[in-house]
Amino acid sequence: MSALPRSPEPLSYEVVVVGGGVSGCAAALAAARAGARVLLVEEHGFPGGSLTAMGVGPMMSFHNPSGRQVVGGIADEIIRRLQARGASLGHIADTTTYCSTVTPFDSEELKIELETMLAEARVDVLYHTQLAAASAAEDRVVAITLCNKAGLTEVRAEVFVDATGDGDLAARAGVPFVFGRAGDGAAQPMTMNLKLANVDTAAVRAYALAHPEDFLWHPHGAEEGRRRLERSPRISLAGFVGAWRAAKARGEIDVPRDHVLFFETPVEGVVVVNTSRVTGLDATDPLQLSRAEAIGRRQCQQIFQFLRREAPGFAAAVRMDSSPKIGVRETRHIVGRYLITADDLVAARPFADTIALGGYPIDIHSPSSETTLTTYLQADGAYEIPLRSLLPEKIGNLLVVGRCISATHEASAGLRVSPIAMAIGQGGGVAAAEAARLRVPVAAVPFAALRSRLLEQGAILPAR
Ligand SMILES: Cc1cc2nc3c(=O)[nH]c(=O)nc-3n(C[C@H](O)[C@H](O)[C@H](O)COP(=O)(O)OP(=O)(O)OC[C@H]3O[C@@H](n4cnc5c(N)ncnc54)[C@H](O)[C@@H]3O)c2cc1C
Repeated sequence: MSALPRSPEPLSYEVVVVGGGVSGCAAALAAARAGARVLLVEEHGFPGGSLTAMGVGPMMSFHNPSGRQVVGGIADEIIRRLQARGASLGHIADTTTYCSTVTPFDSEELKIELETMLAEARVDVLYHTQLAAASAAEDRVVAITLCNKAGLTEVRAEVFVDATGDGDLAARAGVPFVFGRAGDGAAQPMTMNLKLANVDTAAVRAYALAHPEDFLWHPHGAEEGRRRLERSPRISLAGFVGAWRAAKARGEIDVPRDHVLFFETPVEGVVVVNTSRVTGLDATDPLQLSRAEAIGRRQCQQIFQFLRREAPGFAAAVRMDSSPKIGVRETRHIVGRYLITADDLVAARPFADTIALGGYPIDIHSPSSETTLTTYLQADGAYEIPLRSLLPEKIGNLLVVGRCISATHEASAGLRVSPIAMAIGQGGGVAAAEAARLRVPVAAVPFAALRSRLLEQGAILPAR
């Protein structure tokens, strides 16, 4: 048996981003546009993470409950570029009324647009490559080891950005973390999204308008739902509650969820059904993740059969291939220099080092019941994300972006969504580039310079 080959010379960059989901892409773009030489590492053969590899959509939300836009910058630029190519409708009303807006996008076009932007910014991209190990001295990541078809490669950098969603790099560098919910470690369930084509959305819309009692209209109620449904170019709905409950009582469905949730994509009649729910498994444990894939696929088969049989407008629906990976909502949260709590979100607590804003509610898919627990923000509420929540306590040249920053289970249930993940990514990317340029720990980057660079890049930050 021979060991994996090792490349003789380590690669060297100013900033290395591990994880090519939307937070990692935003970080890589922001760092490169701020002047750094950047490598982006991704285990799949395309960028976009949850939005392209786990079938997630639409993006929600760029706005707060009152409809004020709180995420701009690179995230909004991606949408404008997709719109210009007919691959997104931009921000439209959320007809479930859960948020003020949703942003449907074409996931294949998103891959292409992200690749175009990364190429324009001269980011080097390494696909089909996994993080294998990290070597850390007391206060620095010295190098990481990557694994791919060529064997093992060592990569050095001034600053490393962990955008793996699961905090893989931080964990391998010895950064302490909390898994899931404090106390019992329970994480939000995984969901395998189901993509269907040939749905008669006009019939679905007509049914929802005629039978509002069969749908959930939180927080604004059925009247507001009707108003939005009558105008919105695409539909999002949470419901079919009656038939779903009856099918479960007959034993046809064993999904631990109390309704069907689905979103129409920019392509009319193509919908993402975000309904399966796999609880009690750890997505960072390869065996448990493998079990989750099989459970999710079997649940999706039940959901597909239910929709074809029982849901108006779905009788001729066609199932598309499942995504390469089941959707993972929550695993590790790093222990950082600041722990964001639910109170911070609800009170819109201001910070001196805010790098991103969010306006999405606290949306907890229960780890242990069929329900979804939501805490809505104040009408014009927008919460702040401080740079310190991206920074481990000890390691000075590492920062974390996306859904695994230092936040409680509850707070993370708000800021985990893709627009906010991108805003955090952009903040982290600029901070990484500045730290690399000045050759200082990320925490020592002068905040005024970081803030003005972010504003130059179009980020939306509190006015102060
Ligand atoms: C089922 C589900 C439904 C959701 N619904 C919505 C929704 O409707 N709207 C919304 O806006 N958000 C939604 N979200 C949340 C949102 O999709 C994600 O939280 C957000 O996109 C996170 O982005 P990220 O870049 O932090 O992580 P990810 O998207 O998880 O990206 C991480 C990337 O890192 C790569 N990676 C991971 N580990 C390694 C490694 N060791 N080596 C190399 N590469 C690695 C992965 O392949 C991936 O590309 C949903 C999430 C799920 C799971």
